[in-house]
Amino acid sequence: MKFILIVGDGMADYPVPELGNKTPLQVAYKPNMDSIAAQGQSGLIKTVPDELTPGSDVAICSVLDYDPRIYCTGRGPLEAPARGLELGVNDACYRCNIITEQNGVISDYSAGHITTEESSQLIAAVDQALGKKGQIEFYPGLDYRHFLILRNFPNPELIVCTPPHDAIGVSVSAVLPRAKSPLAQDIALVLVDLINCSRGILRSHPVNITREKAGKRLGNLIWPWGGGKKPSMPTLKEKFGLNSAVISAVDLIKGIGTYAGMEIINVVGATGLDNTNYEGKADAALKALVRNDLVFVHVEAPDEAGHCKDARLKVKTIEDLDKRLLGRILRGISEPYAIAILPDHPTPIKTGTHSRDPVPFAIKSPFLKPDGTKRFDEFSAKSGAFGLVENDYLISLLIAAGKEKKPS
Ligand SMILES: [Zn+2]
Repeated sequence: MKFILIVGDGMADYPVPELGNKTPLQVAYKPNMDSIAAQGQSGLIKTVPDELTPGSDVAICSVLDYDPRIYCTGRGPLEAPARGLELGVNDACYRCNIITEQNGVISDYSAGHITTEESSQLIAAVDQALGKKGQIEFYPGLDYRHFLILRNFPNPELIVCTPPHDAIGVSVSAVLPRAKSPLAQDIALVLVDLINCSRGILRSHPVNITREKAGKRLGNLIWPWGGGKKPSMPTLKEKFGLNSAVISAVDLIKGIGTYAGMEIINVVGATGLDNTNYEGKADAALKALVRNDLVFVHVEAPDEAGHCKDARLKVKTIEDLDKRLLGRILRGISEPYAIAILPDHPTPIKTGTHSRDPVPFAIKSPFLKPDGTKRFDEFSAKSGAFGLVENDYLISLLIAAGKEKKPS
């Protein structure tokens, strides 16, 4: 039995006036997703525990049967393996954005979507001036997304860091890292100091001089956030006895996959946007299924469309996922399989940000009797045989569905 898990990031939504008060999933032409629902069983599943912030870090850990309350230690440590960064058990790893500060206020979390080429020069200059090998290390990532590793840095969970995308228009001094306990006071000051010292280094850097002349936003401050230690997770092989692989354009997903012991498959042209290489991902999934029991394919594009509040684009990303990726996998697979389709969390058009509502899912397997659900969407899934799943994880449901029930 082969297992296929398809996640359309942020695909679920609320009814949208522009779409005749229907959701993008209800409006999209998606015969393949609908066929999984019609030939299998559906339900709604809660992927974000009440006490956590909705996001793909939390939701994807949930989907893969890793309790996010334990394993979601921060964006930094979860993304680091995708960049080949090695963390010791006592190291704290932060995402370290290059951001724009204007008159003491955070005005852009991405420094005007600065390019990797420019941004990596800036972080290298910061590392040269402020880094100390074995203690404070900066590493370049994609675009504005870099990393800061503090070696042997106790209790990163005792320091509050504000994600820069949640602090636009807020004064820098109001959202500097701060300690939750006196125990971490000194350490919070290290982060504050690094931020303050980066100002002078970045302001005069040739990259910023050129950007200023071109009227572009400056990358004039570093912003560490999402810090934590690496999670110590049992692999999917240890948990379920299955060899697995993951296909995604997104560092966070590849990082979680690395900790979960999955084979990380990079596909040329996989961008995380609506121009992604859907066919390439499908072909890579079919190839990976030859040597793996389970393949997880993640598509970021619907989430991006949700953040842009673009309903038509969101419908298109769902239709592309259905036709160009899912349909191609279903046509190409020759062995018996169980397959699940779902979003990790909703990214509603109305708000342009993640929500914590339970998401619809459908699972098809030779051992599951159709439950009468005809289509795959938020409303059809409500009456599916699984009902509302609050205390189980999607991957466990999928694996259980792929096993023949022995008569008791
Ligand atoms: Zn998102």
